[in-house]
Amino acid sequence: MTHAETRTAAVIGAGFGGLALAIRLQSAGIATTIVEGREKPGGRAYAWERDGFTFDAGPTVITDPDCLRELWALSGRDLADDVTLLPVMPFYRLNWPDGTMFDYSNDEPRLRAEIAKLNPGDVAGYARFLDYAAGVYREGYEKLGAVAFLDFAAMIRAAPALARYQAWRSVYSMVSSFVQDAHLRQALSFHTLLVGGNPMTTSAIYALIHKLEKAGGVWFAKGGTHALVRGMVKHFERLGGTIRLGDPAVEIETGGDRASGVRTRSGWYQAFDAVASNADIMHSYRDLLGSSARGRSVSRRLARKAFSPSLFLVHFGVKGTWPGIPHHMILFGPRYDGLLTDIYRRGVLPADFSLYLHHPTVTDPSLAPEGCSTFYALAPVPHLGKAPLDWEQLQQSYADRILDEVERRLMPGLRERIVTRFHYTPADFAHDLNAHLGSAFSLEPLLTQSAWFRTHNRDDRIRNLYFVGAGTHPGAGIPGVVGSAKATAALMLEDM
Ligand SMILES: Cc1cc2nc3c(=O)[nH]c(=O)nc-3n(C[C@H](O)[C@H](O)[C@H](O)COP(=O)(O)OP(=O)(O)OC[C@H]3O[C@@H](n4cnc5c(N)ncnc54)[C@H](O)[C@@H]3O)c2cc1C
Repeated sequence: MTHAETRTAAVIGAGFGGLALAIRLQSAGIATTIVEGREKPGGRAYAWERDGFTFDAGPTVITDPDCLRELWALSGRDLADDVTLLPVMPFYRLNWPDGTMFDYSNDEPRLRAEIAKLNPGDVAGYARFLDYAAGVYREGYEKLGAVAFLDFAAMIRAAPALARYQAWRSVYSMVSSFVQDAHLRQALSFHTLLVGGNPMTTSAIYALIHKLEKAGGVWFAKGGTHALVRGMVKHFERLGGTIRLGDPAVEIETGGDRASGVRTRSGWYQAFDAVASNADIMHSYRDLLGSSARGRSVSRRLARKAFSPSLFLVHFGVKGTWPGIPHHMILFGPRYDGLLTDIYRRGVLPADFSLYLHHPTVTDPSLAPEGCSTFYALAPVPHLGKAPLDWEQLQQSYADRILDEVERRLMPGLRERIVTRFHYTPADFAHDLNAHLGSAFSLEPLLTQSAWFRTHNRDDRIRNLYFVGAGTHPGAGIPGVVGSAKATAALMLEDM
């Protein structure tokens, strides 16, 4: 292809979705420029270095590594040349206030023994649940997870499978039809929280996450999740792509039904044959396309949608090592349904909490100074639209309560051992990532906001404007946004 024939594309945002899309486009010979607002790529998967500790900002559970390997295989390369993925076992340890512990993994004999400890009668029910999860995985992830839903006909074609798997039921209700034990019902349904969904209302289709984990395992990138981000950037640049950091887009220029270029805060402007946004969908339509009628009308519609809750994180580096604490733990609180209703519907910051505890140094000690450990504890909290709280003022005491809970239940003497600590609040999601209402996962993954009902991977009017990432089909989570990149790239390559 001569230079004159080279097609060009801009990708706004270097989250997992934006990076995966840019790699696909560049691999296909499209001269691609990523425009990222922050000085480091990664989006939700940002990272900080503090006092010798490395803190990943967000995703820590890497599932379906094949969807990432594919990004290297497109150009005949191997992910392993740039990133080392380490297996994590058990996948998670779950802990309840009554002292119950449950290790979840794909080690079948061990898992059956763990279930039998809770309730021997549920071993058979769990096997049936897995069959169900395998079915929805085939229909929902393998067949439909990486193809765009641009018209309602696509939705109608998917309807028989949705009906067969009772997609209108919630994950929790479906799990409860297979197993009786209350702990096990939580253990098999909490996964939707990882993509922003309330297990009590999110479609049972999301049970596919079980199959995803079981089939592909749970992994962690050596050096932290941000090492995977850096590996993606390295691969993209080696392919000839360009990445601009620290200069946010302020406008996607349009003319009629075409996007013509991207303008940034510094005044930089470039024309492109196609533009894709990986930035928050509300920010994209309301702010970046704000001068177009299309931007204004879609953002009005988006304002009526349900957005996922936010998260509060306390990052802490501590003296000492904790070999007994596995990489991923969930510390459930005394309530499940009630807590979720407070966060998702009532907009109440609850007095109790369910925590996810990340302990990466048990897998990769290089993430902390010698003899020290890195952790983060995360609590789901209402987004800023449901609870417009003053996080600046609240954060210290809320983090203290979380650390007290971790200390009491798991790490005696924790508070004296902390070397460094900082917090990440819903206000930070809104400020750093332009996340609408500070939502951590964009649109809530309700059935009525999924597939065709979610933001389309290509705009319906502006024919060379595309979207990728958590707010588009199929949704949040690394496999989700990497799948959205596959769907969006297929459209772009066909159109271009
Ligand atoms: C704390 C946390 C833990 C999580 N844990 C997991 C997990 O363990 N496993 C998992 O699979 N998923 C997890 N997730 C979900 C997953 O991280 C996200 O769904 C996914 O990373 C989102 O990717 P994205 O492509 O939508 O882009 P984002 O990560 O949202 O990135 C969008 C990018 O766009 C940039 N941007 C915004 N506005 C502009 C602008 N105007 N100009 C230029 N750039 C702009 C932002 O700076 C950002 O870099 C977690 C999420 C969070 C928050």
